[in-house]
Amino acid sequence: MAEKSPKILIIGGGFGGLFTALDLSGAGEVTLISDQDHFLFKPMLYEYLSGEVEAWHIAPNFKELLNDEATFIRDTVKNINLAEETVELARRTLDYDVLVFSPGAVTNYAGVQGAEEFALPFRALDDAANLRRRMTEALDGIQPDAAPQDTRAALTFAVVGGGASGVELSTKMADLLRDAVKRRALRGEPRVVIVELADRLVPGMGEEIRKFVEDALEQTRVETYTKTRVVRVTQNSITLEHNGDREELKTAAVVWVAGVRPNPLIQTLHLETDRRGLLLVEPTLQVRGHPNVFALGDIAFYPDVVPTLAGTAQLALQQAHLCAQNIRAFISGGELKSKHFAELGEAVSLGTEHAAVLTGGKVIGGPLARQARFALYTARLPTWHHRLKVGASWFFEGTQPRPLQPLGV
Ligand SMILES: Cc1cc2nc3c(=O)[nH]c(=O)nc-3n(C[C@H](O)[C@H](O)[C@H](O)COP(=O)(O)OP(=O)(O)OC[C@H]3O[C@@H](n4cnc5c(N)ncnc54)[C@H](O)[C@@H]3O)c2cc1C
Repeated sequence: MAEKSPKILIIGGGFGGLFTALDLSGAGEVTLISDQDHFLFKPMLYEYLSGEVEAWHIAPNFKELLNDEATFIRDTVKNINLAEETVELARRTLDYDVLVFSPGAVTNYAGVQGAEEFALPFRALDDAANLRRRMTEALDGIQPDAAPQDTRAALTFAVVGGGASGVELSTKMADLLRDAVKRRALRGEPRVVIVELADRLVPGMGEEIRKFVEDALEQTRVETYTKTRVVRVTQNSITLEHNGDREELKTAAVVWVAGVRPNPLIQTLHLETDRRGLLLVEPTLQVRGHPNVFALGDIAFYPDVVPTLAGTAQLALQQAHLCAQNIRAFISGGELKSKHFAELGEAVSLGTEHAAVLTGGKVIGGPLARQARFALYTARLPTWHHRLKVGASWFFEGTQPRPLQPLGV
């Protein structure tokens, strides 16, 4: 290992990459590369859609977070050459002594006709902003004297994927749309449907919290289609297949949260992956056969992880601490460790006024759980400084949703 100031390159500024960089302060010349200029606390993207939080709360700038602890480069990684220990960016090539690979996942449209072209993804700030705009445009298109069935037709939205993400998103959309219909004194109701291939929603979720989820779907009047396959998506429709019967729904928008696949950058490594394309890592997070390369988060298959923890921020965050610890050991010639990662509890947003939180074996629901979720997530934001600023803002300025105003107002 280089005698001093080893070059540590980190690809990806998400839960895995950013938290590794923060923990590595002083360990070497740390450089974080991301194609975005900000971190994103994805579990609160639903609240950004509804205006309960602002961009600066959940998407702080890397330069502000990293201070002098690491160099930040905004660029897109195009290729990685493990033999030459170089990383090719759009504008230059960098070499490294230690590489951390954490570019996360991308939306998986599973080859469904029209899905990639027409369905909206929901993973980035811009995705939430686009969806909000589509919801507002749909509302703006309704005549003040429209019949109830016309309002319902104009405000039909489909959310594909009945996991936690689909539930959180659909309940938030339903509350926002219903509030807007009321404020604009329109007749009728919005229609939000959630489509799931399995026979039940949130299959991995514990029974205690499931009851709150089911109640919330009922209260927000989200329609659920289980055992239903999406056959086709177009600009203004979705075709569903249930028990062999096909049905086409006219939609204002289709949002796709039905699954992810590893970032395609993984293919440039030419390394062993599991059947889902995840990189196989040692219990120390080192990539097999490359002791100076560490991988974590949504692109890595870690052997000792319960299925419900795989592909979560909770896991990436815990792995980041182990990763930084092991990089320090690797540099100093010390012993690298493995770790059993714990489930830190579940917290789901359920519309704009409710949530359900499972922690320490107990579940709470309703408005109190919504506050608890905000408090819990404040504690998981990066850096003390940012946590304090956000905590103070939420405490003193509140976290009320921002109504869907007509565009241009
Ligand atoms: C809407 C939503 C809600 C979620 N809610 C929860 C939740 O409540 N609880 C939970 O535990 N998990 C949740 N997750 C999952 C969680 O966000 C991920 O598991 C976690 O972000 C994985 O961390 P990561 O570091 O692997 O990837 P990410 O956080 O996705 O970070 C990857 C980073 O790499 C960058 N990048 C990608 N490609 C390149 C490239 N070629 N060049 C440069 N940079 C690149 C990206 O811009 C990004 O900064 C949610 C996910 C979404 C989308």
